Amino acid sequence: MTVFRQAKVYDVCIVGSGAGGGMAAYALTKAGAEVVVLEAGEPWDNAKDSAMLTWPYESPRRGKSTTERPFGEFDACIGGWEIPGEPYTRAPGTEFAWWRARMVGGRTNHWGRISLRFGPYDFKRKRRDGLGDDWPISYDDVAPYYDKIDRLIGIFGSNENLPNEPNGVFQPPPRPRCHELLVKQAADRLHVTCIPARLSILTQPLNGRAACHYCGQCNRGCRVNANFTATNVLIAPALATGKLTLLTNAMAREVLVDASGRATGVAYVDKTTGTDRRVRAKVVVLAASALETARLLLNSTSSPFPNGLANSSGTVGKYITDTTGTDVGGFIPKMIDHVPHNHDGVGGMHLYMPWWLDNAKLDFPRGYHIEVWGGTQVPSYGFLGGIHRYPSGGGYGKQLKDDYRRYYGATIGFSGRGEMIPNDDSYCEIDPHTVDRWGIPVLRFHWKWTDHEYKQVKHMQETFRALIAEMGGQVFSPMPTAEQGYGIAAGGVIIHELGGARMGDDPKTSVTNRWCQAHDCKNLFVADGGPFVSQADKNPTWTILALSMRTSDYITDQMRKGAL
Ligand SMILES: Cc1cc2nc3c(=O)[nH]c(=O)nc-3n(C[C@H](O)[C@H](O)[C@H](O)COP(=O)(O)OP(=O)(O)OC[C@H]3O[C@@H](n4cnc5c(N)ncnc54)[C@H](O)[C@@H]3O)c2cc1C
Ligand code: SF4
Repeated sequence: MTVFRQAKVYDVCIVGSGAGGGMAAYALTKAGAEVVVLEAGEPWDNAKDSAMLTWPYESPRRGKSTTERPFGEFDACIGGWEIPGEPYTRAPGTEFAWWRARMVGGRTNHWGRISLRFGPYDFKRKRRDGLGDDWPISYDDVAPYYDKIDRLIGIFGSNENLPNEPNGVFQPPPRPRCHELLVKQAADRLHVTCIPARLSILTQPLNGRAACHYCGQCNRGCRVNANFTATNVLIAPALATGKLTLLTNAMAREVLVDASGRATGVAYVDKTTGTDRRVRAKVVVLAASALETARLLLNSTSSPFPNGLANSSGTVGKYITDTTGTDVGGFIPKMIDHVPHNHDGVGGMHLYMPWWLDNAKLDFPRGYHIEVWGGTQVPSYGFLGGIHRYPSGGGYGKQLKDDYRRYYGATIGFSGRGEMIPNDDSYCEIDPHTVDRWGIPVLRFHWKWTDHEYKQVKHMQETFRALIAEMGGQVFSPMPTAEQGYGIAAGGVIIHELGGARMGDDPKTSVTNRWCQAHDCKNLFVADGGPFVSQADKNPTWTILALSMRTSDYITDQMRKGAL
């Protein structure tokens, strides 16, 4: 096998250009480091490549999903649950799905942009309920970085002074739309806290980027860069420094180490030619997404590290979590035959409900937040999810058209997003029998929810049904039974996988230290969701970004001191 080596030794090699890798590339190049990013996917530029203003009728598919765009034909994110030639496996009895992006910017090209800080309790949950583990760092360690990314990237929201939903540096939130006002009224009556959403979308110009013009198509990519993608907000300015080499279609195979156990670079496959290549660097940062980073570490075997790199504790691939989730939607008669008016808004919710209850009065630990959906959107393939679900809905011709107009915007629904506690039965490992198209061993997943998660999801279902009833609506589906897991989404389906390289002060029980630096290999860092100790009832990306910036500052400091 011919292996091409680059003579150049970069200061830093980053694997992955999504939230974590993009932020590391931004912070390190701005600090003056010579950086190379290996990205398994293709180039992408919102300003040129986004379908933001395409009408569904411009395509014969009307926006229906394709294999590489499972969230719809016009969606910005190339990737999916299954990628040809890149399998993963599940242990018998395991239900788990793994969503992977394959493009510059990773999943940030599509994500919902719900940008929630973890709160003070989230870093120290074990102290409060005895379950899982505490982080070695606290909210105060991360807060300055949350502030910095609020200012750099831009986020709207409102300061509410809630104990575990920290204030931020917010731009003004957009006003609630008609369906959201109805939700707010119902939530107030049921004493469910309901506040402006926190999304990384600009409502005012920031750092040369335009404010949102409320076309509602954020998942297609924003042509004016009013929402956050790692591609255009982090990688583009990093490239502009002249310090970043971005290698696309570069699939990392393993981290290379010398006899002393120091990382020397990364071996990767050039997907365009199928050739094996190597890049050399003084520091390696893994940001390929939490589970892919675990895969890279486990595949990086050598004589100093026979069980995989940074795995002397045996915990690489362990303590993995996903957000718990379930959805309930309903038909809201108050929303039919409405007077046409301006429903414009961002491509996401304007309101949400943070966790509002006291666990001492409940039969499950931890909590969840509620995401709101519904109202009017550009009609596309699958519009209304089946007209037959509405009273008298269906038929042909004029009646059908009238029904579509009548019921347009009359659906409101809720998605619960809650905290899973890491357990011993949920982990990933290398499948000894399966390799991908380049011969790289793949991951095998093991997954189990516990009673904690099932009870939490039951509570979500009951709450959402109560909210829909309070709005005078009718729920589309019956309450799922215990045998149906109360409607809990399978592991991985909420696409918030974390852990597998968790941080801790004790090298016997953790992979990385409080700086996301491998205990076993000082010039190796993890800048994605791998080091997370717990999940929280928050979407994780704002914390991935904050920790990546914090780790990058630490790398810069240590390089300047000659310690790396
Ligand atoms: C539909 C959807 C909605 C979401 N909504 C939200 C939300 O509202 N709020 C929130 O906080 N989070 C949300 N998320 C999750 C969010 O996108 C992720 O948490 C975040 O992108 C993770 O960042 P990352 O850098 O770890 O991984 P990614 O963004 O996935 O980036 C990883 C990059 O690494 C590359 N890569 C992988 N393997 C290799 C390899 N071997 N070699 C080289 N490159 C490699 C990939 O191609 C990819 O570009 C959502 C995700 C999806 C898909
Ligand atoms: S809603 Fe705003 S941020 Fe989203 S794509 Fe449209 S203009 Fe861009």
